[in-house]
Amino acid sequence: MPLVDMRDMLNHAYQNNYTIGGFGLVSLDFLEAIVTTAEICRSPVILNLSEPLFYQHDFSLIMPAVERAAHHAKVPVAIHFDHAKKHESIVQAINLGCNSVMLDVSSETFPVNIAQTSRVTEVAHACGTAVEGMLGFVGGVEGENAINNLGEVVYTSSEEAKVYVERTKIDFLAVSVGTIHGRQPNRSTKLDFKRLKRINDELGIPLVLHGGSGLVEEQYHKLILNGVAKINCYTELSDIAAAAIRSNVQTRNRKGYIESLHDVKDCLHEQIKLYMHLWGSAGRAAEVLKDLCTTARI
Ligand SMILES: [Zn+2]
Repeated sequence: MPLVDMRDMLNHAYQNNYTIGGFGLVSLDFLEAIVTTAEICRSPVILNLSEPLFYQHDFSLIMPAVERAAHHAKVPVAIHFDHAKKHESIVQAINLGCNSVMLDVSSETFPVNIAQTSRVTEVAHACGTAVEGMLGFVGGVEGENAINNLGEVVYTSSEEAKVYVERTKIDFLAVSVGTIHGRQPNRSTKLDFKRLKRINDELGIPLVLHGGSGLVEEQYHKLILNGVAKINCYTELSDIAAAAIRSNVQTRNRKGYIESLHDVKDCLHEQIKLYMHLWGSAGRAAEVLKDLCTTARI
């Protein structure tokens, strides 16, 4: 039942100055760790499924498990399909149960981004599905060394953002204000808070941050105060899981697949819990469930 419309969830976070984690999910270990931690922390949560991370697996096979976990969760859950490569992927994701979608056309020109995102919004909204748009280009690749895939970062312009939201009718905007997808050698990411404030003042809708792993506490607080209601987090979780597996392989007597996954969920749990408290979503589940209309949209 607590599959919640992400618009309701993010609007609550936006109006109450906290942010909800869009935690990257690639396997059942991640799914269980994310949902269990959200229940323990009494936090609303977003299950973030990024199409590029499913290059080795059939995405449709994991969705029944994701849907079941969302419906049985004791906290509000939304299922978001991220970085879709093409319109057909969006349609498939909606049919499979995602109640929020994002087509990644941020590297295209402004008119192409508007045209293709508008097409997605038209279809998604007709199905009751929320849409995240992205304007500006956040470099790097999720779960990999950012330096290898930087591309040219393009910051989001507040003037263009206003036109973009009006024309595409998206529900949330992912902005480029200095973060990069993937692992970075140092953690001195500089964020353009003046730009973020201008965008937030101009739009007045929940903003989304990609490449949100590993910033410092003060940065997260400033992001939240300037309209960021969803932060995507995958690379850090991926590294934590991989480190646990490496340690198991080196130290445990039994070297099988299941043994190598020992403690992975517990390690993920600790990091997710930390973010839920840091971002202020911990303890908010009852408020969201009580104040907002929970709608089974699929
Ligand atoms: Zn992203």
